[in-house]
Amino acid sequence: MAKGNIGVTSDNIFPVIKKFLYSDHEIFLRELVSNAVDASQKLKTLASVGEFKGELGELKVWVNIDKKKGTLTISDRGIGMTAEEIEKYINQIAFSGAEEFLEKYKNDAQAIIGHFGLGFYSSFMVSKKVEIFTLSHKEGAVAQHWSCKGDPEYTLEDTIKSDRGTDIVLHIDDENKDFLEESKIQELLTKYCKFLPVEIAFGKKKDWKDGKQVETDEDNIINNPNPAWTRKPADLKDEDYAAFYRELHPMSEDPLFHIHLNVDYPFNLTGILYFPKIKNNIDIQRNKIQLYCNQVFVTDHVENIVPEYLTLLHGVIDSPDIPLNVSRSYLQSDANVKKISGHITKKVADRLQEIFKADRKNFEEKWDNLKVFIQYGMLSDEKFYERAEKFALLKNVDSNYYTFEEYKTLVGENQKDKNGDLIYLYANNTDEQYSYIQHAKDKGYDVLVMDGQLDVHVVSQLEQKFEKTRFVRVDSDVIDKIIVKDEVSQVNLSDEQRNALVTVFESQIPAMEKANFIVTFEQLSPTANPVFVTQNEFMRRMKEMSALQGGMMSFYGEMPDSYNLVVNTAHPVVEKLLAEEEAVCSTEVAPVATELAEIKAKHDTLKDSQKDKKDEEIPVAEKDELSALAKQLDELEDKKKAVYRNFASGNKQVRQLIDLALLANNMLKGEALANFVKRSVDMM
Ligand code: ADP
Repeated sequence: MAKGNIGVTSDNIFPVIKKFLYSDHEIFLRELVSNAVDASQKLKTLASVGEFKGELGELKVWVNIDKKKGTLTISDRGIGMTAEEIEKYINQIAFSGAEEFLEKYKNDAQAIIGHFGLGFYSSFMVSKKVEIFTLSHKEGAVAQHWSCKGDPEYTLEDTIKSDRGTDIVLHIDDENKDFLEESKIQELLTKYCKFLPVEIAFGKKKDWKDGKQVETDEDNIINNPNPAWTRKPADLKDEDYAAFYRELHPMSEDPLFHIHLNVDYPFNLTGILYFPKIKNNIDIQRNKIQLYCNQVFVTDHVENIVPEYLTLLHGVIDSPDIPLNVSRSYLQSDANVKKISGHITKKVADRLQEIFKADRKNFEEKWDNLKVFIQYGMLSDEKFYERAEKFALLKNVDSNYYTFEEYKTLVGENQKDKNGDLIYLYANNTDEQYSYIQHAKDKGYDVLVMDGQLDVHVVSQLEQKFEKTRFVRVDSDVIDKIIVKDEVSQVNLSDEQRNALVTVFESQIPAMEKANFIVTFEQLSPTANPVFVTQNEFMRRMKEMSALQGGMMSFYGEMPDSYNLVVNTAHPVVEKLLAEEEAVCSTEVAPVATELAEIKAKHDTLKDSQKDKKDEEIPVAEKDELSALAKQLDELEDKKKAVYRNFASGNKQVRQLIDLALLANNMLKGEALANFVKRSVDMM
């Protein structure tokens, strides 16, 4: 029997393994099972080139728990190791610049294991003793037994082992007893080994017999050794892709599309990405792409490998060029990884373009589900935008779909305003904005639907990209003011009439939290609505942006919504109201108005006489007189307004007109709504 010290230049590797690698304990299983898989595949390779002439037999990897003995065993029938090989591959651990490196990466077990090739030694993270029983495939080899208790000493001796291959026996230590639980090992095997290229058996299959679960003779295989991404696209049908998706994401709905990646230059990469179907925009989930290295699971945090917007996709990528034990800092700096990201972007765009061209109808049907991915890509990656602008779609309120180019042709001449600006009209809620959409349609205009999660940003982006083009929501103003063709007809109101109507309407707007109204006038068609509510495009967008971004913009978010209550002065009802107001108020207003005019004249003359004097040259009495006049003016104005308010409060029609406008905007709620209903009945 040989005894020796494990060849590391640093004193002792074991405390390092136990202490620094604490957080990632579970990866030991991945390391050992992939070693067993490698050993099996190497033997297959040797057989195929004629270097191994024996029977290959069944090349599985077996994982077994023995709770009584407290052991977890990983067995293979691969190439095995001779005593010299154990000496070389297990006992001599290349270990240079260790301390420095360990200090730097002490929280990153992946990096440490990767750097030192400590795959096998990771077993000491969970074991008080590890044994190797191995018989090399080489002719005349003698079986070997290696044993080590987690200190630099090991023993190596000849032993008897009938079958070729290696058993790694872990004597699990007291702190890690959970690795003797079937459910735990099952979970880890599913996570790391689900697609390893050699069958992995974990215990035996179970069956129900006489109401009890009993073990059968059949191995319980936990992996699929030939997952779809390792096969040629030509050999796969749509059903195969769908079936593989279900294997990956059993709880998800069928995906929209798949993309089979298959690259061999300048790096190796295979994989299948799926555009998932998202039921509602909120439940977008990241990190559904799994990264593999030669079918060994590495991570499902792929932020640094695929562009951010593609982390919304589902699926698998596999690249032997991304090392198995990757650290995050490594990924960020690696040139290969950067190339991979760029390449995936291109592939995804190509595939979408291909589907768009080959089957536009299908593409359109899926657009509503697809658009969040494509828009995200266009917003976050200029390169992707350049490709996607050819197949990205705009949808109008009649559910017709257009490419950017097509839409421009459709509305190009018709929706240009008098300055030559092209106006794209949109709605974000076709029910709530129904009447505005109708007005636009009556004018022969087209209205887009922009109701997606990212549409606020998309609108800004397209305005920057498209020349002389603005997007305006249909309800942000009267249609003739959104697309101004010629001079809009002037409002025929005297200043006095204007003041009167402003007070009449203002005084009757129900109080609403976080909403301000400004009364404005438009001379529209007599058949248009008499009164309606619009919301300024700029202010609304600022608020929307602030809601999405917070931070700097939250100033806008705190502001109340600002609406216009637009009164159509050409509407007969409004004309009648004005006439009524004049009839009712004029006798009361006339003397006030006369007095106002007199005082104002006095006030203005006085003010005028002071115009060229310095403040100290004006006598105090004169100053006092002026402020008294100003006060009088205010009082008279108030008096006049009181007359108008009084008229308005006694006139049910004013309230009714306002409520109808609010109702059309879905803004009439609670008590105001109840009052409206009651008033409407009363008026019948
Ligand atoms: P790595 O796998 O990264 O080379 P490990 O520490 O996991 O590092 O393994 C070291 C070496 O030990 C392997 O390269 C292989 O030669 C040998 N080895 C480990 N496990 C087995 C096994 N089950 N069968 C045969 N050889 C093995």
